[in-house]
Amino acid sequence: MQLQLLRQSRTLASCSSSSPSGSRFEKIPSTSIRVLRTVESVRRWRRPHTIDQRTVGLVPTMGALHEGHLSLIRAAARENHNVVVSIYVNPAQFGVAEDLGSYPVTWAADMAVLAALDRELADDGANLGRISAVFAPTTADMYPAGFPGQAVDSKGSFVTITPVGEVLEGASRPTFFRGVATVCMKLFNIVQPERVYFGQKDVQQTVVIRSLVRDFMLPIEVVVGPTTRATDGLALSSRNVYLGARRRAVATVLHRALSAAQAAYAGGARDRETVLGAAKKVTKDVLSEQMALAPEKRVRFEVDYMSLADPSTMEELAVVDPEKGGILSGAIRMLPVEAPREGEDLGHSGGPAVRLIDNIIIQPS
Ligand code: AMP
Repeated sequence: MQLQLLRQSRTLASCSSSSPSGSRFEKIPSTSIRVLRTVESVRRWRRPHTIDQRTVGLVPTMGALHEGHLSLIRAAARENHNVVVSIYVNPAQFGVAEDLGSYPVTWAADMAVLAALDRELADDGANLGRISAVFAPTTADMYPAGFPGQAVDSKGSFVTITPVGEVLEGASRPTFFRGVATVCMKLFNIVQPERVYFGQKDVQQTVVIRSLVRDFMLPIEVVVGPTTRATDGLALSSRNVYLGARRRAVATVLHRALSAAQAAYAGGARDRETVLGAAKKVTKDVLSEQMALAPEKRVRFEVDYMSLADPSTMEELAVVDPEKGGILSGAIRMLPVEAPREGEDLGHSGGPAVRLIDNIIIQPS
């Protein structure tokens, strides 16, 4: 975490200027986007908008912004007077053995992307608002009693949403949804948005957030935006930079597998074995093709899970009720390249194992 904070401050691309009242605030150069770093500064910024009944849409992110994030910001600008983008790599949602230390931090590039997007939003008359602020807090601010740690048995003030947070992603990452729900509760209380924007890419997260908002009576509307994909179908993700060219080419296997399951459903299959069987055949065939290649050419991956689940609880389904639909989702681990070729691009941080997730919604009839 310290390393990451250091990198953030080294690449700081914002400056200070005077507000009409003479107070000083930091903003992204050549824009009116404020960079807010403390809870108190967000509260001060928020107050007049509450009085004037000007709405706020919050897009929580961990930075390393890509088109998936930008699609959510565009949606927020269409529906709110102000958009706040939070950029915070929340240590509580990383397991002790996960990639917190190497998670991509691209602050200067993120600020440039937000400045360009804000100009685009200004030119589009259909938008109600623009990007008003980036909220980039420190861990000391977000965890005023001290960061409780990443262990399963860490003590502290946590929000847990079960059973949905325990299955699928939660099964292999036992502290993940506790970290997500906790940080989102904090962000919602700080920014006090009317609407929050999340991507369908992380479908289980959207179910967790909807439960959080419902069960704690938060006066917030949860908006879920569609998954943004590369032209070959791979869902965009900040973690794709870890893949390198060789694994990137094979990483589409997950989307292809889920699409095959969707096609099986569209062809009339309703039972779990047939629908998921179609997905598993794709992963099995692709893995066999790869294993037939030499170690200098092949890509290895492991399937973590393939799931067909209820859209509101994420409980596994034996049979899909077409009136309710379902969620097809999966996770695979792209293993490190075994035998790197001379000069090969292995990806960010030398190409560690990369866990990819994706999903397709079976819409209710
Ligand atoms: P992250 O920075 O990865 O925590 O993601 C921040 C938000 O962006 C979450 O709501 C994600 O679901 C969403 N998001 C990430 N990737 C995509 C994508 N490819 N398409 C749409 N939304 C995405």
